[in-house]
Amino acid sequence: MTNLSTAIKAELTRLGADMVGFGDLTILPSDMRGDLPVGISVGIRVPPDIVCGIAEAPTLEYWDYYHSGQDALDKLADASADFVRSLGFEAIALTRNNVKFVGALRSALPYKTVATRAGLGWIGKCDLLATEQFGTAVWFSAILTDAPLDCAKPITESKCGDCTVCRDACPAGAISGKLWNVELDRDGFFDAAKCAAVTKVRANELIGVDYPLCGKCIAVCPRTKQALLN
Ligand code: SF4
Ligand code: SF4
Repeated sequence: MTNLSTAIKAELTRLGADMVGFGDLTILPSDMRGDLPVGISVGIRVPPDIVCGIAEAPTLEYWDYYHSGQDALDKLADASADFVRSLGFEAIALTRNNVKFVGALRSALPYKTVATRAGLGWIGKCDLLATEQFGTAVWFSAILTDAPLDCAKPITESKCGDCTVCRDACPAGAISGKLWNVELDRDGFFDAAKCAAVTKVRANELIGVDYPLCGKCIAVCPRTKQALLN
């Protein structure tokens, strides 16, 4: 790895990232990536106590973390972009207020796409980014840049194999069980509208939160459970 890549990875880790990867985005349309060629993917692990609490139903602790975790990710992305700019490169932090949507439940450049391009994981059957290190219990943000970083080999196939744990546990029946690959659109394996509709009703009934909050597919994933043991 070049000195530049090593220095950026070290600084982003110091700023709080649990996962950092660099992805070549040039196969994507230019307007989708702010005319910049590289995506830096940064992930923060969802705390184990929060994960353990949501195996059966959403909790108020998870609802609190839902905000504080996303705030932390935005701060991390902003600070990361500042650092990259301080080295003389362009950088755009894809914080929540910078994300463009192309549909009700679809962003123009999903964080998960950047993460797969950066070799950090694959899209699980539940449409979460699944990783070897933390299972599905890790949230992502991204920074777009023209810094000449060492980009990873992208992950283009699922590693979920025969596992159907999230499909079987999903209260919405939103998970078809079909394996993701880079050619397959989300709608081909996951029903995001069903997930949002059912989780909103459940969160309202169970904890009085008027928001589609669930997370069961984070907690039940065998790869998440394995990570909790480490
Ligand atoms: S968040 Fe809940 S409802 Fe949505 S896919 Fe995961 S388990 Fe199913
Ligand atoms: S529970 Fe199984 S199928 Fe679902 S994301 Fe985790 S490994 Fe993949």
